[in-house]
Amino acid sequence: MVSDKLDELRAVNVARCTSVDGFCFALHDHSLLEWSACLAGEAGELCNAAKKMNYGRGSTKDLSDELADVVIYCDLMAAAMGVDLWSIVVEKFNATSEKRGVPYRLATRTPSPPPCPKCGGSGKAPGEGGHG
Ligand SMILES: [Mg+2]
Repeated sequence: MVSDKLDELRAVNVARCTSVDGFCFALHDHSLLEWSACLAGEAGELCNAAKKMNYGRGSTKDLSDELADVVIYCDLMAAAMGVDLWSIVVEKFNATSEKRGVPYRLATRTPSPPPCPKCGGSGKAPGEGGHG
């Protein structure tokens, strides 16, 4: 599911950005203006890759790399804002569909059930640290 993949991206993306063995850069080290400038920079690189392809240079791989950078920075900016990227995409997508009078909607995130208080969601059998 896409929202699960975005959850994975968020966890690893923020860890890579902020950890000592990663980029060692706290999310609050950038203002939202600076995060948006980073995002715009990647969008500019995407445009440049598309321009090169239009002139017969570059490749779909170059374009894909820059598109991925845009998504990665969208996630970092959303993390810096303290919002869930999937939730705001769903909200905006559905609002636009409503505004334009078309039937297409994305499903809102279904909250995960809380983990089992006995096994913490490990599912281990009794005697193995799970239910017992
Ligand atoms: Mg780039």
